Amino acid sequence: MEKKKIFVAGNWKMNKTVQETEEYFQEFLPLLEKIENLEKVEIAIFPPFVNIPKALEITKNSVVKIGAQNVFFEKKGAYTGEISPPMLKALNVEYVIIGHSERRHIFKESNEWINKKIISALEEGLKVILCVGETLEERESGLTFTVIESQVKTALSGVENALENIDIAYEPVWAIGTGVPAKPEDAQKVHEFIKELLKGINSEKASSVRVLYGGSVKPENAESFLKQQDIEGVLVGGASLIPEKFAQIVEIATKI
Ligand code: PEP
Repeated sequence: MEKKKIFVAGNWKMNKTVQETEEYFQEFLPLLEKIENLEKVEIAIFPPFVNIPKALEITKNSVVKIGAQNVFFEKKGAYTGEISPPMLKALNVEYVIIGHSERRHIFKESNEWINKKIISALEEGLKVILCVGETLEERESGLTFTVIESQVKTALSGVENALENIDIAYEPVWAIGTGVPAKPEDAQKVHEFIKELLKGINSEKASSVRVLYGGSVKPENAESFLKQQDIEGVLVGGASLIPEKFAQIVEIATKI
């Protein structure tokens, strides 16, 4: 199986209009052109749904991939406000984030829903970034590994043979958008644990899953995460909104 590249993914969350999307890429793409060995890294940006067509159009001739931040599991029907996997596929979207902590906590998505979404997205030929992570309360109660195990196992139930189309982002909830990242060595322990879990799920395909770290990643700390043995990429929120910062993180990843 071909070794996957380091993955640098940017989650814009509910930020930027279509015009701001255009302005972002006008600044970001020239910055990327100055980076050497860019082929070492896979870069994907996840704008809000309505900005996806514009983002795809502008990045068409670049190495940047565009993904969606969420998807519903039904293909069509009376699900007001939702977007289906075939709709994303029809746009040529390659990746979709599923199970982001904001979806879990604000929108009350369960592990079972997340599992259904993954099954449905994979059926449509989309690649998935599954997000997992413990809350501060769970960490302080010593439940980190129990929570991660249950999130990973439930989410991947029924898709054990499709691991090559899945990456996992470990994002401790208390580190997302707080400016307080995990300690790289602590994150590494969870990544190692996830890699072991994956071996138990499908020993042949486990190594095809990249495990990314997310939670207050910025240019100043990206290297300390990416140099950990089992951290194979980063999922960046806030810092991905600023072209210069996100390009710096990409450049750091090319040097690992
Ligand atoms: C995220 O949105 O997945 C994230 C990690 O956000 P931030 O980098 O802002 O903490």
